[in-house]
Formats: sequence, structure tokens, C-alpha cells
Amino acid sequence: MNESPKMEKLVSFCKQRGFIFPSAEKYGGLQGFWDFGPLGVELKNNIKKAWWKRFVQERGDIVGLDSAIITNPTVWEKSGHVEGFSDKLVECKKCHHRFKADDLAKMEKCPDCEGELTNEKSFNTMFKTFVGPVEDSTSTAYLRPETAQNIFINFDNVRQAMRLKVPFGIAQIGKAFRNEITPGNFIFRSREFEQMELEYFINKKDDEKWFKKWVDDSFQWFIDLGIKKENLRLFKQPKTELAHYSKATTDIEYKFPFDKGFAELMGIANRTDFDLKSHGFEYRDEENKTVFVPYVIEPSAGVDRAALAFMLDAYDEVKGGRTTTTESNKEVEVVLRLHKDLAPYKVAILPLSKKEQLAKPAQDIYHDLQKHFMVAYDDVSSIGRRYRRQDEIGTPYCVTFDFDSLDDKKVTVRDRDTMKQDRVEIGDLKNYLEEKLD
Ligand code: ATP
Repeated sequence: MNESPKMEKLVSFCKQRGFIFPSAEKYGGLQGFWDFGPLGVELKNNIKKAWWKRFVQERGDIVGLDSAIITNPTVWEKSGHVEGFSDKLVECKKCHHRFKADDLAKMEKCPDCEGELTNEKSFNTMFKTFVGPVEDSTSTAYLRPETAQNIFINFDNVRQAMRLKVPFGIAQIGKAFRNEITPGNFIFRSREFEQMELEYFINKKDDEKWFKKWVDDSFQWFIDLGIKKENLRLFKQPKTELAHYSKATTDIEYKFPFDKGFAELMGIANRTDFDLKSHGFEYRDEENKTVFVPYVIEPSAGVDRAALAFMLDAYDEVKGGRTTTTESNKEVEVVLRLHKDLAPYKVAILPLSKKEQLAKPAQDIYHDLQKHFMVAYDDVSSIGRRYRRQDEIGTPYCVTFDFDSLDDKKVTVRDRDTMKQDRVEIGDLKNYLEEKLD
């Protein structure tokens, strides 16, 4: 798949700045697998933290879970994945390239060489492995293709341990694996990725109310973390395209710079009572003693896909130079306008000179702040260049320690977006930053 110029730029930016590397690049990589570098891991952790805070920490009705990636294969038989978690594959008889039939729409020839295509074949996208030393059908297991099923099979354990009453939810963040036929578009579609999933158990009669609420709340989460509203939209899946378990699914789509533009960022599905019934669970309502199987609404988002959307949305190129030094020129400068909660580093300490006289007190400030935030320290090259480096990786605040700081015990704090500079007492710096970052 061809990448757009913006994607190409982002892919190389991510590598150069330590966000994302091709996995095992030294050995030619492996298609569909990526390694997150020092800044990428911070970004991903911040996304997961923001999601957990909003949907677990700040609510009383949702609890967390961290379940095994490999589990009893019966789970995947009961859930319908062994039978039906497949994509339609077609192969070119000439160049032997393989495609997902859905991607080719009604094309009759190979898009790469115009060769003849085979008929569609079903291809199960679950990764198989073996548990224990014997490799046969009795030891076959799967790497989970979604985190949801492990939530369902812990329904009673979690409910009883935490004394939960419908409506309540169980949330999980973790790895999922899919042997995608055509991974691509950078980390948009990979074979190993992370999901943030939540199963919200409700009474059937309230399903439409809760479905709408979860679509609205999920959409708002992206807006609150800085994604521009015009780059998001809702897509209601037509009945003919719904997954076997779904009564209704609405996708939140982001305007990615590839394919048709808007593509799925996350999905919210009304999974009805399909999964709990498949696994044989029911629920007793203590008050009126009725026994029923709850319906479930599932907001499901990819961490990697969200990271890509946040980075694309934040990636800004400014012409004409922003730095206030003599170095300012007509070059294009990159500013990664990430939301403060998502920025890998919150603060950078930049001593005006490397001289011991400034370096020592600047380092003291650095070590002090490290107890509270992720802080960068940079004393290499000119101050203008160092501002630029921090703008590129999205650091919201740069703190400069200059010669005046020795006398007035103040530092200059520069805001990434407004470029406004404040002179702040060193003793107040932590509180000042805490207030700004809150
Ligand atoms: P798609 O139609 O793009 O294949 P899907 O509908 O199969 O996605 P779901 O099963 O609903 O996806 O998974 C929930 C979320 O997990 C998606 O919205 C997406 O953010 C993420 N996701 C799914 N597959 C991948 C993948 N191969 N790589 C990265 N993220 C993924």
C-alpha cells in the first residue's frame, strides 16, 4: 500500500526521534511488527493512563482486569473465533501477492501486475501456538485476537469478588494478535497491537440508552485529548456488515491521510447477551430475584491506532522559524502539539551554558522535578536549537537557567504553543508546572 507524503514524513520522524522503530530492523524487520522507542513508550503509557483514569479511576462502576494472553482454547471455540474469525483472501496467480478481498472491492485483476486472481478463501487470522512440549492438536492454543473474551470468562469471578450490580463494567488494556493478511499504513494495521477494551454489562431494556452514551463518551475522550473535531466522525455500520455477535456497531473514524481518508479508530458495539450466553453465564438480580443474562456494550480502541491519530493530529509544520535566536530562519520547524497529558516529556531543563556555574544548579532543578514529572535535560548546542528539539517531540514547557538566575533565583519558563515566557521563582517552579499541567 502506498503511503501518503504526510505518513512518510511521520514514519521517518518517529524513527529519528525515538518514537517507533521497525521491529528487528537489523535483520530486515518483520512485516506488521513495530518496536516503540523511548518516546513512543511514554506516549503509549500516557494514552493508556488517560483512558484508565477516565473510564476506571474516575468512575465507581468499572473495575480493571489483566488477564492471560494465552488461555484455554475452548474460550475461542465458544466465542465463535475458531469457526469465524477469518478474512477472505485472494491470491494473484501470476505474482502470488495476497490481498484481503475486502480491500480489492470488485476488482477482477491483481492491482500489482494485472494478473488473474484466485477465488476467495477463508483465512483464520488467529495466531496458533502449542502449550507444553508436544506439538499436536491437543496442545494447540491461540494468542488472543482481542482482550474482550478474557473479560467475559471472568464475569463471575470479578462480579462476586467486587460485589458488583448491573450496570457495571470491566476494563482491560493489553496485547492482541491478528495474523492480518495485509498489515500496513505504519502502525494502523499491525499483527501485534494493544487494545483498550471495556465490557459494560446492562439490563437489556436499557441497551439503546447505554449504547448512545458510550458512543458519546468515547468520542468526547478523543476531543478532550486534543484531536480536532473536524478530523473525527461517526460511522454506523450497516446491518449487513455487522459482526456475528453485534446488534449495532458505530465506529469512531479519524481522517487518516491514506485510503479513503476516514478509517476506523475505535468501535462501539452492542454485543447483546451473545458472549455471556456462549460461555454459559447468568446474573441474579438480588432485589427482585430475577435471573437474566445481561447485555453488554463494548467500547474497543486500539492503543497503537490512537497513538497514530494523536501524532498525526498534533504534527504541525511552521514556516519561518519560531525560535527567538539569530538562528531563526525560513526553514520549516516541526511542532508536535500533543495534549499535555500525552506528551512524553512534560518539561525540559535547558541551562544557557554548559559551564559548571550554571550546570550544577540546573541539574539540581532537573533532579528535583524528576520526582514529579518526566523531565528532559539538554545542554547540547544553542538554546534556539534546543527549543526546537523539544518542540519537535512535544514537550509543553522548557525551563531556561541563565546567568541572571544565579542572582534573582528565577528561571524562564516557555510555553510550547503560546511561546509566552514567564519568569518564575525556582522555589515555586514545581507548583507552577503542576498547575499548568493539571
Ligand atoms: P478493522 O476493520 O480495521 O480490521 P476491526 O473492526 O477488526 O478493525 P475490532 O475488532 O473492532 O477491529 O478491534 C477494536 C480496535 O482495535 C479497532 O478499532 C482498532 O483500533 C484496533 N485494531 C484492530 N485490529 C488492529 C490491527 N491489526 N492493528 C492495530 N490496531 C487494530
